[in-house]
Amino acid sequence: MAQMMRAAVLHASGEAPTLTLEEMPIPEPGPGQVVVRIIASGICYTDLHIMHGDWPGKPSLPLILGHEGAGYITALGPGVTTLKQGERVGIPWLSSSCGLCDYCLTGRENLCPHQQNTGFSVHGTHAEYALAQAAYVVRLPNNLDYFEAAPLLCAGVTSYTALKEAEVQAGQWVVIVGVGGLGHMAIQYARAMGIHVAALDINDEKLSLAHELGAEVTINTRYQNPVARIQHLISGAHAIIITATTADAFEKEIGMLRNGGTCVLLGLPPGGFSVPIFDVVLHHFTLRGSIVGARKDLQDALQFASEGKVKAITDIYPLTDIQNVLTQLAQGHIHGRAVLQIA
Ligand SMILES: [Zn+2]
Ligand SMILES: [Zn+2]
Repeated sequence: MAQMMRAAVLHASGEAPTLTLEEMPIPEPGPGQVVVRIIASGICYTDLHIMHGDWPGKPSLPLILGHEGAGYITALGPGVTTLKQGERVGIPWLSSSCGLCDYCLTGRENLCPHQQNTGFSVHGTHAEYALAQAAYVVRLPNNLDYFEAAPLLCAGVTSYTALKEAEVQAGQWVVIVGVGGLGHMAIQYARAMGIHVAALDINDEKLSLAHELGAEVTINTRYQNPVARIQHLISGAHAIIITATTADAFEKEIGMLRNGGTCVLLGLPPGGFSVPIFDVVLHHFTLRGSIVGARKDLQDALQFASEGKVKAITDIYPLTDIQNVLTQLAQGHIHGRAVLQIA
């Protein structure tokens, strides 16, 4: 009889999603796969989007959520020669890609149209064990513990890659909109790269966190007009990174850019926004999406943490608390990243 594990399983998405803790068989590794004993699994806002069925694409249910899984390898499938039993690895959102398309061949496998995604199109990491593709897990630096590493597997790499996509240089200014799981990492990566940071949020506590992490300007958008403030203080930002989970302000936020600036969208709220075409053309703005990162970006994002330049702020909860944590996250009460302790 198969050995069993505990997992958080989504059975129905939508207005009233059902997520239950249950026993499932521990997966067996197929060719090119590994089984990872998960110790820490970060909770991303994406988990909420999947639960609420916010996105155009729907996963097939039942599904184990989670795509920031850190642990060690307990079983190797046939043909896996690059990893060993006991090796410490992370399982990110990009579960696999085709390896053959233009994107995969140019180191942009996060854009592969044939990709599979952990905790979305394949089972994720909010479980005692998870199956992963050997070629898509990342080795964890020795000096990072599992709880420090987990948030870097999505929030870390996503923020780091967004800064690269923003094409903002040392000495220039970036505005980070939203100081949550992504935003608090983006501030640290930007500071580590020598980029000046202005942070926006609607919560004063999150703004004081932003200040502690190195943001030189903080603006509470409940009381202050960010466009006027940013234009006044720094004559416009070279780049904006929007991590917000609602689209209400997107349209106005572009007005914080200086001429030639780039706005990178990272948050994935449902719906859309309209863009003032005249401003975009005349001011030569670039509007760009950015989705996680490629495997090399993930390695680099972990390297910053290994060198002590960035550190995810985490609150650790038992797996049994998952429902409560997701509720807190939806209400904006989580500071930094919530991480499940699975072991
Ligand atoms: Zn994520
Ligand atoms: Zn591909």
